[in-house]
Amino acid sequence: MLKSAGRSVVIVEARDRVGGRLLTETVNGTRVEQGGQWLSAGQDQLLRLIEDLGLATFPRYRNGENVYIGHDGVRRTYSGDALPLSAHTTTQLHRVGSALDALARQLNPEAPWEHPDAEELDAVSFASWLAEQTDDVEALNLAGLYVGPAMIARPNSAFSLLTAALLTSSVGGFSHLADENVVLDLRVCGGLSQVADRLAARLAGNLVLNSPVTRIEWSEDGATVICGRASYWARSVLLTMPPPLVASIDFLPPLAEPQCELRARQHMGQVIKVSAQYDEPFWRHRNLSGTAFSPYQLVHEVYDNCNDDLPDGSGILVGFIAGENATRAARSNPEHRRAAVLASLSAYFGEQALRTSCYVESPWLADPFAGGAYGSSFEVGALTRHGPLMREPVGPLHFGSADLAGYGYLHVDGAVRVGRMLGARLAAKAQWS
Ligand SMILES: Cc1cc2nc3c(=O)[nH]c(=O)nc-3n(C[C@H](O)[C@H](O)[C@H](O)COP(=O)(O)OP(=O)(O)OC[C@H]3O[C@@H](n4cnc5c(N)ncnc54)[C@H](O)[C@@H]3O)c2cc1C
Repeated sequence: MLKSAGRSVVIVEARDRVGGRLLTETVNGTRVEQGGQWLSAGQDQLLRLIEDLGLATFPRYRNGENVYIGHDGVRRTYSGDALPLSAHTTTQLHRVGSALDALARQLNPEAPWEHPDAEELDAVSFASWLAEQTDDVEALNLAGLYVGPAMIARPNSAFSLLTAALLTSSVGGFSHLADENVVLDLRVCGGLSQVADRLAARLAGNLVLNSPVTRIEWSEDGATVICGRASYWARSVLLTMPPPLVASIDFLPPLAEPQCELRARQHMGQVIKVSAQYDEPFWRHRNLSGTAFSPYQLVHEVYDNCNDDLPDGSGILVGFIAGENATRAARSNPEHRRAAVLASLSAYFGEQALRTSCYVESPWLADPFAGGAYGSSFEVGALTRHGPLMREPVGPLHFGSADLAGYGYLHVDGAVRVGRMLGARLAAKAQWS
């Protein structure tokens, strides 16, 4: 947008590649999407960009039955989106979802702090609100799973009811959070990271890789961005790293206390995405879709992740370890972790799941330019205190990230929305000399 508006732009990227939390790697001859990969029909900004870039999408494989392992440890298969729960648990889960939906409907996800009861909703943790909604353990654990581990990727006690309502509102309701057929609908042929690759190809002359920004010297007139021995002067600077990482930059003059506090109260989630390759998609031959859930398994959700052009016969399952499980698993010995992951997969799909031909774990938790996964969220009480400042410029400095999105919060669609918002803001500024 800025280039089209005739502005002179330089993109300074820390890594030796573009894409950030989108990364497609070839492992054992097969493409593995290590970061964001799914999109849904409602994510119109991302879909528009995908179309504009000439990329094609394909639906996630979902033929056959899904697997659920409940509180009783029993493995059950089911069809459609209704989990095999008791009538009581189903009613209770629906009640919790409806209560969250009712709050979410009252919110503007772009400004959740404007809700008349925002401070009250932000003062209570999602975990303690959940505990008051029902005493049905299974319903509590499932509702907690959909919001906490599966999305925010932090313990439900670490973020507020207001943040849970923001997330719910940003994706279009609790039923969307709980329905993998909505939020995990489509993939991009060749990998979602091609969105970044194709944008980068259009901006080849404007892009400098291997340049972590360490210092920014700024005044009301502009800023000097310093990366190692190189430096760039600009009238305006967009900082689009995950918000907690803004603190890794040395600002001169230092950012004011509310700006520092704002980013110190946002914390990255913890997720390990695991991919297991097999000589064949054996689950498909047993009329299983590859979709599996359990709040009680280390790998709490699993999907068939065969690529659009995978050679006939071979199969990939993708799964997620999140929140406290991810923190603990990351500390454990890699061989033990791999064995524990495969034990989870075999609990869902039988012992054939143990015989993987290749096993890959995502790198985000140890990545200094991500700082965690999927993204960041405010701690209890901080969204109302600091949220109104989060997209506000400071002199020539502007801040953007999927983690600062309202609609599309924590999703690639949100990154695109915030990017467009910043592009429009700067393109509308008077032409620079
Ligand atoms: C495992 C995983 C699975 C996910 N699954 C999905 C999904 O299926 N669907 C979905 O919509 N979303 C998903 N997400 C979330 C999605 O990937 C992110 O929300 C989105 O990619 C974030 O985009 P961004 O541009 O805001 O930030 P980033 O992609 O993090 O980009 C920030 C950029 O800043 C760079 N940077 C950082 N520090 C510096 C510095 N000091 N100097 C210069 N450059 C710096 C980084 O290298 C990076 O390129 C997933 C994320 C993960 C990690």
